[in-house]
Amino acid sequence: MVVAEEAEEQSGTRSAESLKVAIVGSGPAGFYSADFLLRDPRNVAVDVLERLPTPFGLVRFGVAPDHQGIKRVSAAFERIAKNPRFRFFGNVEIGRDLTLETLLAGYHAVIFAVGSATDKRMGIAGEDLPGSDAATSFVGWYNGHPDFQDRSFDLTSERVVVIGMGNVAMDVARILVRRPEELADTDITEAALAALHESRVREVVLLGRRGPAQGAFDQAELADIAALPGVDVIIEGALPALDLAGFPTNVRKNVEYLRELAARPPRGASRRVRMRFLASPAEVLGDDRVRALRIEQNQLVEAEDGSVAARGTGVFETLECGLVLRSIGYRGVALPGAPFDTKRGLIPNDGARVLGADGKPVHGLYAVGWIKRGPSGLIGTNKSCAKDTVTALLSDTDSLLARPLASAQDLAELLADAGTRAVTFADWQRLDALEVARGKAAGKVREKLVNVRAMLDALDKS
Ligand code: NAP
Repeated sequence: MVVAEEAEEQSGTRSAESLKVAIVGSGPAGFYSADFLLRDPRNVAVDVLERLPTPFGLVRFGVAPDHQGIKRVSAAFERIAKNPRFRFFGNVEIGRDLTLETLLAGYHAVIFAVGSATDKRMGIAGEDLPGSDAATSFVGWYNGHPDFQDRSFDLTSERVVVIGMGNVAMDVARILVRRPEELADTDITEAALAALHESRVREVVLLGRRGPAQGAFDQAELADIAALPGVDVIIEGALPALDLAGFPTNVRKNVEYLRELAARPPRGASRRVRMRFLASPAEVLGDDRVRALRIEQNQLVEAEDGSVAARGTGVFETLECGLVLRSIGYRGVALPGAPFDTKRGLIPNDGARVLGADGKPVHGLYAVGWIKRGPSGLIGTNKSCAKDTVTALLSDTDSLLARPLASAQDLAELLADAGTRAVTFADWQRLDALEVARGKAAGKVREKLVNVRAMLDALDKS
């Protein structure tokens, strides 16, 4: 009953002759794309589909709980959603609730904005031992992503090794060494906060396979860790004497800051982050669970094109630890029915136009964000990416409108007929209010609902 009423409520604002675009995925790339489409004078109608009942993707599930300022970008997405030509269909998954073919029948174009749902693997022995996990799973866990709530992370050992020197590595290191009291008023989940209170972790080793000039982190992210009370940042080994004149600004900032940190005498703080360059993971050691990580020292080799790679020296050592978190990048997952480049982990495209197996653009299919260009860049990077994708799509308007829609059935009705409980944006706003109220009661900005069933039940009860 509720489903049928909402289907009706959701289908009132459509006009038959406008360009109809479906966006799959409601993270920043999806919302920025919706914004550019809605700004066009041609009255484009935009439906955003999302696998989870909640919108905003990595703004909700990736950005760390102690970076609430960054999460405020969701206020801009809320404004976009107010446009009467915008609709949200949460809890709707391609492949589970409808096929891509069915979706395409009702839209002139589909934009894939699904991001990178999984992580890269190290490909070393012992990687699947209990206690060896992806940093992205740890992030999903403390941020309340429904897919990661059954995970547990062993925080009973003194040392955790994080592989990789990107900003995700900085986030997880910071969350692991930060005093849990400082997270108590954020939107970290209750379970994660309780686990961090019990944590015996005192040292996080960040392992970079290349040198200080190749770190993928931003200086400000490292500075956030160094500024934490009760935490020392220790740079292992001597930093190379580099002439920084020819390097890009971000590299210069990073290396200069590392030099500054290396010159600081440790304060004897109770928690430490050790940065270890020129070392790669070789094997995760342990019988029933992780006991240590075997690492290989590297040297740098410069190729003719100026790129710098790590090469193993054959010198190994063992680092005792209870938890290994690989933070070596996200990876896209194939969407049923859509082309996919398995090697690169993204949807093959030419300037956003999705390419089929024959290498030619597939009519009506576009990509944006990480699934288009790979998992790099900040939230704002998706704005220019979305602008490019929407510009490409709108320049195809004539050919898109020239192909009549194969189905006149509205998505809201189609899903209602199939018994799918689609979550509208108004539903999300009710969940949002509920989470904020739960948070207020606990002295936090928000207490997230962390499983899909609980979200749907809460909606049906309210
Ligand atoms: P990333 O920036 O690509 O960093 C990945 C790191 O893993 C690099 O240091 C890389 O070293 C290393 N690595 C890759 N493969 C490896 C291997 N096989 N063995 C050892 N090390 C390996 O990825 P990310 O940290 O997941 O971040 C993804 C994007 O999100 C980035 O653009 C990041 O800036 C952004 N982000 C931003 C924030 C923020 O602003 N607060 C927070 C989180 C994420 P090489 O360079 O040698 O390949």
